[in-house]
Amino acid sequence: MRRLIRHVTLLIAMPWLTLGVAHAFAAPPPAAADIVDEADRIKESEPAHFAQLLQDIQPLRNELRDGERARLTFLEGWQAANRGEGAKAKALLDRVVDVSSDRLLRFRALAALLPVLDHAHHYEEAFRRLNQWQELLPSVQDNAARQVGLMAAARLLDSAGQFDLAEAYAKDVADHPVAGASGCAGMQLLAQVRLDAGRLVGTDPDYAAAVSRCNLAGEPVAAESIRADIGAYYLKAGKFQAAVDTLAPYRDALAALGQPVLLASVDTTLAGAYFGLGDLERAHHFADMAAATNASDPLAFPRHLAFKVLYEVEQRVGDARSALGYHEQYMAAEKAALDDISARSVAFQVVDQQALAHKADVDALNKQNEILRLSNALDRKEVENGRLYIFVLGLVLVGIVALVLRLRRSQMRFMRMARRDGLTGICNREHFVEQSERVLAYGARSDRGACLILFDLDHFKNVNDTWGHSVGDEVLKRAVDVCRRALHACDVFGRLGGEEFAVLLPDCSPAQARARAEQLRLSISATSATPSRPELVVTASFGVASTLQCGFELHRLLVVADGALYRAKRSGRNCVFMGDSGDIPDSPYPVAASG
Ligand code: GH3
Ligand code: MG
Ligand code: MG
Repeated sequence: MRRLIRHVTLLIAMPWLTLGVAHAFAAPPPAAADIVDEADRIKESEPAHFAQLLQDIQPLRNELRDGERARLTFLEGWQAANRGEGAKAKALLDRVVDVSSDRLLRFRALAALLPVLDHAHHYEEAFRRLNQWQELLPSVQDNAARQVGLMAAARLLDSAGQFDLAEAYAKDVADHPVAGASGCAGMQLLAQVRLDAGRLVGTDPDYAAAVSRCNLAGEPVAAESIRADIGAYYLKAGKFQAAVDTLAPYRDALAALGQPVLLASVDTTLAGAYFGLGDLERAHHFADMAAATNASDPLAFPRHLAFKVLYEVEQRVGDARSALGYHEQYMAAEKAALDDISARSVAFQVVDQQALAHKADVDALNKQNEILRLSNALDRKEVENGRLYIFVLGLVLVGIVALVLRLRRSQMRFMRMARRDGLTGICNREHFVEQSERVLAYGARSDRGACLILFDLDHFKNVNDTWGHSVGDEVLKRAVDVCRRALHACDVFGRLGGEEFAVLLPDCSPAQARARAEQLRLSISATSATPSRPELVVTASFGVASTLQCGFELHRLLVVADGALYRAKRSGRNCVFMGDSGDIPDSPYPVAASG
C-alpha cells in the first residue's frame, strides 16, 4: 500500500507528464478555451497557478464548447483526485468517461480514475474501468497520455498480483519516455513492480544508474523510491548490511523531502535490516517511527512488518508484555494487508471472469448473427433457386401446353382428315354414316321425319376420258360447291364414293325432299361444270327416300334411295326419282347403269 501514496506524489511531482497532452481540441473561442489549454498544460508543474486558472474559468464556463467543457470537467476531476477528494474526483471523471465522445479525453479520465477508485478500495469498479481503458489503449497515439495511463494501469495490476502485465506496461513506460523527460518515473515503476513480483535484482547496476539519473534530473522522490526498492530487495535477500548501506546514508535527506509514506517504507526496511544484524536498538528505533507514521491509508506501506520487528525486538529483550502487545498489532496489521491483497485479487478475478463471460456472450451473439446471416443468405439462395425452379417449371409448363395445343391441332387436323373427303371437303362415307345415324336417332326420338337424297353424276367416266382426271376432279368439287350453297346448315352432306353423293335432310317431308332434290339437280345442270371449261355441263341423277316409308334406319334409307337413283339413271338421267319401300334391290349400293 505504500505504493499508492508514492504514486500520487509522483504524479504531482512530474511535470514532464503533461508535455504533449494539451492539444487535443480544435481552435475554440479565444479567452475561455485558452485558459483550459493553459490549465491542462501547467497542471502538474504549477499547481497554484493551475488552481487559479480553474477559478478564473468559472464565469466563462458558458463560452466553452462541449469538447472544451468536457476537458474542463476532466481537469477539475484531476484536481480533486490530487487533493484527495475521492468522491468528487470520481463523480467528475465518471461524467467525462461516460459522456465525452473524445476518445483521448476518455482515456485520460480513465487513467485518472484508476488511482481514485483504488484509493477508495472500489476494486471491482477499478478493474472494470481498467478494461475500458485497455480497449482505448491501442487507438491512443499521444505518448504523454499513454505513459500516464500505462503507469496507473501497471500500479493497479501490480497491486492485484498481476505482475506480468504490470511489468509489461511499466517496461513500456520505461522504454518510451516522453520527449525531453528523464524517464525516471518509468524506471521507478519498473523497479517497484519487479520488487513486488520478486524479480528485482537490486545488484543490477541499472538501478543504481537510474537513481543517479533521477537525482540529476531533479527528481529526488523517484530516485529515493528506486533506492527504497533496492534496499527492500537486499532485506528480502537476507543481505542486511547491504540494505543498511543502501538506505541509511540517505535516510535523513529523504526525511526532508516530505514523503512520509516513502520514509515509513525505508524505516521499515532499515528496522528489519538492523534486526537482522542484531542491532536491536536501531531496529526498535526505525520500526517505532514507521509504525507511528500517520498515513491517510493505513495500508499505504507494510506497517505490519514494522510491528513484527517491534514484537521480535521485545521478545528478544524478554519483555513479554510489550512483545504480546506488538504481536497483536502485528497480527491485526498483517491481516488487514492480507485482506486487502485478497480483496484486490478477488475483484480482479471477478471482473476478469465477467469480461470473459461478456466476451463469450458477444462471441456467441456474433456467431448467432453469422448463423442468421448465413441462414438468410441460404434462404435468399433458396428463394432464388425456388424462383428459378418455378421459372423452369413455368417454361416446362408452357412447353407442355404448346405441345398439347400442337398435338391437339394436329389431332383435330387428323380427325378432320379422317372425317372429311380429301377432294371436296365434305363428310366422307364413314362420317356421313355416323352423322346421319345420329340425326336419324334424334328424329326417331322426336318423331320428326327425315329424307335421304342420293345422287350420282351422269356419264362422269366420259368427263375423265374426254378432259382428263384433273378436270374430272374440278367437276366433282364444283358440283359439291353448287350443292352446298343450296343446302341448309342442319343437312348432312357426304361423298359416298367416286361421283356418288348423299344428303340427309332432317325434319323433312318427302315432298320437301323431292323439291330440294329438284333444286340440287337444277343447280348442278345450270352451272358450268368447271370454270376452266365453261362449255362443259354436267348433270346428275337423284333418288330420294323418306323415313315415312323406310323408317329411321340409314341402311334401309340408302337402299331405297339407291333404288330410286337406279331408276332415274334408267329413265334417262338428270332427273329425280322418289323411292318406295317395295323397290329394294339385293345390293345396298348397286352401280347404276349408264346410258
Ligand atoms: P352413269 O351415268 O351410268 O353413272 O355413267 P358414269 O360414267 O358416270 O359411271 P361409271 O360408273 O361408268 O363411271 C364412273 C367413273 O367415275 C369411273 C371413275 O374413273 C370415275 N371416278 C371415280 N372417282 C373419281 C375421282 O375421284 N376423280 C375422277 N376424276 N374420276 C373419278
Ligand atoms: Mg356416274
Ligand atoms: Mg357412279
